[in-house]
Amino acid sequence: SEEKSLNFLEQIVEEDIANGVNDGRVLTRFPPEPNGYLHIGHAKSICLNFELAKKYNGQTNLRFDDTNPVKEDIEYVDSIKQDIQWLGFQWAQELHTSDYFEQIYEFAVQLIKKDLAYVDDSSADEIAVSKGTPTTPGTPTPYRSRSIDENLDLFLRMRNGEFKDGEKVLRAKVDLASPNMHMRDPIIYRIKHAHHHRAGDKWCIYPMYDFAHGQSDSIEKITHSFCTLEFIPHRPLYNWFIEQLGIFPSHQYEFSRLNLTYTVMSKRKLLQLVQGKFVSGWDDPRMPTISGLRRRGYTPASIRTFCERIGVQKRDNLIDVSLLEFCIREELNKTANRVMAVLDPVKLVITNYPADQVEELSAENNQEDPEAGRRMLPFSRTLYIEREDFMENPPKKFFRLGPGLAVRLKNAYIIKGESFDKDENGEITTIYCTYLPESKSGGDNSGLTVKGTIHWVSAAHAATAEIRLYDRLFNVENPDGEEGDFKSYINPDSLQIIPNAFIEPGLVNAKPGERLQFLRKGYFSVDTDSTPEKPIFNRTVTLKDAWAK
Ligand code: ATP
Ligand code: MG
Ligand code: MG
Repeated sequence: SEEKSLNFLEQIVEEDIANGVNDGRVLTRFPPEPNGYLHIGHAKSICLNFELAKKYNGQTNLRFDDTNPVKEDIEYVDSIKQDIQWLGFQWAQELHTSDYFEQIYEFAVQLIKKDLAYVDDSSADEIAVSKGTPTTPGTPTPYRSRSIDENLDLFLRMRNGEFKDGEKVLRAKVDLASPNMHMRDPIIYRIKHAHHHRAGDKWCIYPMYDFAHGQSDSIEKITHSFCTLEFIPHRPLYNWFIEQLGIFPSHQYEFSRLNLTYTVMSKRKLLQLVQGKFVSGWDDPRMPTISGLRRRGYTPASIRTFCERIGVQKRDNLIDVSLLEFCIREELNKTANRVMAVLDPVKLVITNYPADQVEELSAENNQEDPEAGRRMLPFSRTLYIEREDFMENPPKKFFRLGPGLAVRLKNAYIIKGESFDKDENGEITTIYCTYLPESKSGGDNSGLTVKGTIHWVSAAHAATAEIRLYDRLFNVENPDGEEGDFKSYINPDSLQIIPNAFIEPGLVNAKPGERLQFLRKGYFSVDTDSTPEKPIFNRTVTLKDAWAK
């Protein structure tokens, strides 16, 4: 097997183990905020945290970073757990930052007692001004010199609900002249009279991210806390709190966020797509969410393979979505059974085939998988083929059907085009052909070779299905990088519905989630709303990259 070089985070962990840091123990965490569904960017973080811990005999906690009561919801908590498990990972413990609220409050009291935090009555604007600018130092507000006792009293009264939202905040007393703006007396608690989905109405003050995340890492004795690059300037503060409180020294390391072409990734924007009904929901197959990808037909393995291929980097970049598509295409090529569906049907009559005859033809399910077996397909005088597979005046090198042109019907016979009928609009309604009885697939004695093979279904036996063809949700590579509202770059043709395609009769029993290749048409999966009475198929990906070149 191929020896893979270590990524920079694995190198850090191996060095720590070699140096006996934490006695070689590795404990990571995945810390989603339950304010939306997980997306493919989260998958990168999940794979990183879980796989790295596993590689070094460690474990990973699932921690809901639920410090913002207004945006969070139990629906999101449930979907996040489902998605992580579906991706193939199991957390050691399910934890919630809200369970640490009492402890985090005690940490704040501890800081106040060391004269390292103070209650500030200034408005948000006044606080912003007090922080100065990147080129000029901040200035203390009149409240910075409050006594420890007064701060202890006011902070308790904040907790007890004596003040309104925004009336007071608790700030850490760090360094108003620091070149790092995050160190200029950051707000660590704010008043918010809001119901919390877990803590209920117990609290009306909530810790800020910077005073919750590192503290939670420390409480859980997380050894390696991985986050995305925008948290680099937060790291000195992360370390400052741990030092001042004298608690377990977790360490933060940063890696680049995944950005993908032709989509947006922030939950805030994805929520706008859902609420504005630009998509059918968080699990719309066009969404970059895990649930959307699942409904689209992606497998957990294809997403893990994708995350492995992109690796982890120290610089932000934009990954081409065709790499993700490549990963699922490569897997489905090996695993998906080949079946026939006609998306844009036209009738084909085989004039020399007996009108009352029906044959059962044997068809190989997947030439890439000898275990996949075979199935029987009904064949008769009247079939449906794709309209695009017949041309009235075919050019040279058209290796499909036309008057006088011969082609093989997949799993069946060689036929030769004879004539056709048109309606008053000039559209072809029926094609007539003859077949060579001795050319049957698997026992062809005709001596004839033809260049093209086309798919078909028997008209009398075919079932109908709704087929949903998806394209990119945005028509620009990087909607986040464009002027104006990202929603103005939505691709209006990202979903094309074919209400009445014809499918092999056996396909009505395909179960939601089942994945198939429709010969020559792409990979499809059975939609969650599909029933035997109304089968629905989602196109996962085309057979070839339609956007290449
Ligand atoms: P969003 O902007 O989508 O809300 P977030 O970082 O606020 O992203 P969280 O729920 O806080 O979302 O993320 C949980 C974890 O997943 C964090 O550790 C975060 O760094 C990581 N993560 C989020 N988005 C990405 C991404 N695009 N690429 C890699 N990791 C990500
Ligand atoms: Mg976050
Ligand atoms: Mg966020």
